[in-house]
Amino acid sequence: MSKGLLVVVSAPSGGGKGTILKELFSRDSNLVFSVSATTRSPRPGEVHGKHYYFLSREEFQKLISEGKMLEHAEYCGNFYGTPKGPVEAWREEGKDVFLEIDVAGGAQIKRLVPDCVSIFILPPSMKVLEKRLRARGTEEEAVIEKRLLTARKEIPCAKDYDYIVFNDRLEDAAADLASILKAEKLKYTRNTDSIERVLNNAETFR
Ligand code: ADP
Ligand code: 5GP
Repeated sequence: MSKGLLVVVSAPSGGGKGTILKELFSRDSNLVFSVSATTRSPRPGEVHGKHYYFLSREEFQKLISEGKMLEHAEYCGNFYGTPKGPVEAWREEGKDVFLEIDVAGGAQIKRLVPDCVSIFILPPSMKVLEKRLRARGTEEEAVIEKRLLTARKEIPCAKDYDYIVFNDRLEDAAADLASILKAEKLKYTRNTDSIERVLNNAETFR
């Protein structure tokens, strides 16, 4: 069995990360979502341990000082981070692990795990992004303004990612993400034993 992919997905707030991944996960049971820790308050409907681990600043700092975070960053006044624990174990089990993280976290993971697959989701325009963020209705006006300002700084970072997915129609964006995964798994560098296997009549394709 080959090792699973480590997939970094970033987008400005309201870019569609959550929606696209939900669609993708409903079709493929081999995918695992890494639940992040955060110091922000839960939105209505968000569940501790499912959407995030909601921690106090003190609890968050403790995890960092104990070396239990793979990466962490501050975003719009709150801390967010990826717990180290299960990521490598899942990959060894052949599961593809998804990190839905901001651009600062994405850059840290790229340095730490050079064979990760990084994907930036772009909205059709700033106008559409604003409309979607407002329609989601999960943030107050001041927070929306802050997130839109941050988006203008995040979007140029798309150039540092391996792939761009345009989130115009949801179905197309989810299908494009699935195609990226498929192509990544077929890279020679992820199948270096394939030639030997054919020559030795192993006849097992994964
Ligand atoms: P993110 O997780 O990147 O912050 P969300 O997945 O929460 O973004 O999407 C923001 C809002 O935009 C949500 O209300 C979602 O339903 C909506 N949305 C996402 N993708 C599309 C799309 N392709 N077409 C229309 N609405 C979308
Ligand atoms: P939200 O508050 O909308 O859930 O997330 C705000 C931003 O924090 C998004 O860009 C999201 O991808 C990012 N984020 C979520 N979890 C993590 C994490 O573990 N690490 C980092 N660096 N960013 C994260």
